[in-house]
Amino acid sequence: MEYPSHTIRYGKIVDPETNEVIDEVLVSKMAAPKTYTTEDVVEINCHGGFVTARRILDLLFRLGARPAEPGEFTKRAFINGRIDLVQAEAIMDLIGAVTEKSSKAAVMQLEGRLSEKLNKIRESLVNILAKIEVNLDYPEYDFEEVTTRECVQVINSIKGDLKTLIESFDYGKVLREGLNVAIIGKPNAGKSSLLNRLSGKNRAIVTDIPGTTRDILEEYVNIQGLPVRLLDTAGLRETTDVVEKIGVEKALEVIDTADLIIFMLDAQTGFEKEDRDILEKIRRYYSKVLYVVNKTDRPDKEKLEEIRRIIPETIEISVLEDYGIDNLEKAILEFVNKARIDTDNQIIVTNARHKKLLNEALENLNSAVSAAENGMTLDLISMDIKNAAEKIGFITGHEVTEEVVMNIFENFCIGK
Ligand code: GDP
Repeated sequence: MEYPSHTIRYGKIVDPETNEVIDEVLVSKMAAPKTYTTEDVVEINCHGGFVTARRILDLLFRLGARPAEPGEFTKRAFINGRIDLVQAEAIMDLIGAVTEKSSKAAVMQLEGRLSEKLNKIRESLVNILAKIEVNLDYPEYDFEEVTTRECVQVINSIKGDLKTLIESFDYGKVLREGLNVAIIGKPNAGKSSLLNRLSGKNRAIVTDIPGTTRDILEEYVNIQGLPVRLLDTAGLRETTDVVEKIGVEKALEVIDTADLIIFMLDAQTGFEKEDRDILEKIRRYYSKVLYVVNKTDRPDKEKLEEIRRIIPETIEISVLEDYGIDNLEKAILEFVNKARIDTDNQIIVTNARHKKLLNEALENLNSAVSAAENGMTLDLISMDIKNAAEKIGFITGHEVTEEVVMNIFENFCIGK
């Protein structure tokens, strides 16, 4: 029976061999070309639960269907020209998005904002190439000098665009993977308590015995849409205990790779030798440190004053009484926003493959400009421009090898 396209029908799935009814279902029919892949699509909505779905799938496989490969639907959409590579990769990002902000960045790419920008850049490069071509074809008109000057002007403006996109990647990486925040401080300062407070769960074990957080604990939290990966490190004190020593070494490693360090001081014990040692160890990371004083609910007033004198820019909190935590969260967000990225509107590059190619294109253009400045001929300059245009084409999929496409879609989850 012929059903109209883009309609849903109620029916039963029946095993043709046994005549057994497997499930009551809704079947959507979507005829090409207005579908996800631009090909004919039929979707079966069955009842939830593993067994029913499994039996329907088994039946379909028996009748000649096969399971989709990872990313196959999106790959077909790309091959059939409905979406470009950037959009296909955005779908993958969207599935993996952990917070609202990261999903927003992915949607923007899915809508084609990044592709649009890249296509414009590529077009400008192709236009320059055309101009150079004309010049080379009619050497009797000696326009070479004028053309070179014009080219350099356009290339410089494109370089600016590329730089902005490349710089957005650091923020894009934060959106994808979360901001890595290491919480450090001497034992018993309240690091695990803060981790628990921020994550709203009771994952780390909180104790009164100094040095019990011996390994690195991590927790993903969502701070106003920003994905944050919190790492609670062992106390950074000199130790002879082997187990703890491993912890201390790991802590130093974590500090090195962290995007932001929260150094926690204790308003009850004040600024001790251990704090001085830690301060010494993190001195070279000063631009990514937030200083926090905990236990301000029951401080030793003189010792707190001393901390304030030694480190003037502290955030005072009490995890126990939930005081100052919102200030700390605000400071974390401000740290990220220092990059002055308009997170809601700027096009953000979130994909490492894209960033690498953008960097390569920028290098090609740098080389084109220096060739022009050194009085090289236009055909030499055009080589660099051609290479840059090609790199941009690799990102959107205008120019791309089968191998790259395979690689990208292999990382997809099954079923999309
Ligand atoms: P860590 O060793 O730095 O991870 O410290 P913990 O989180 O295990 O906390 C050590 C002790 O300090 C525990 O007994 C906590 O209850 C206590 N503590 C944590 N935060 C506060 C606070 O804000 N005020 C007070 N008075 N005690 C706190």
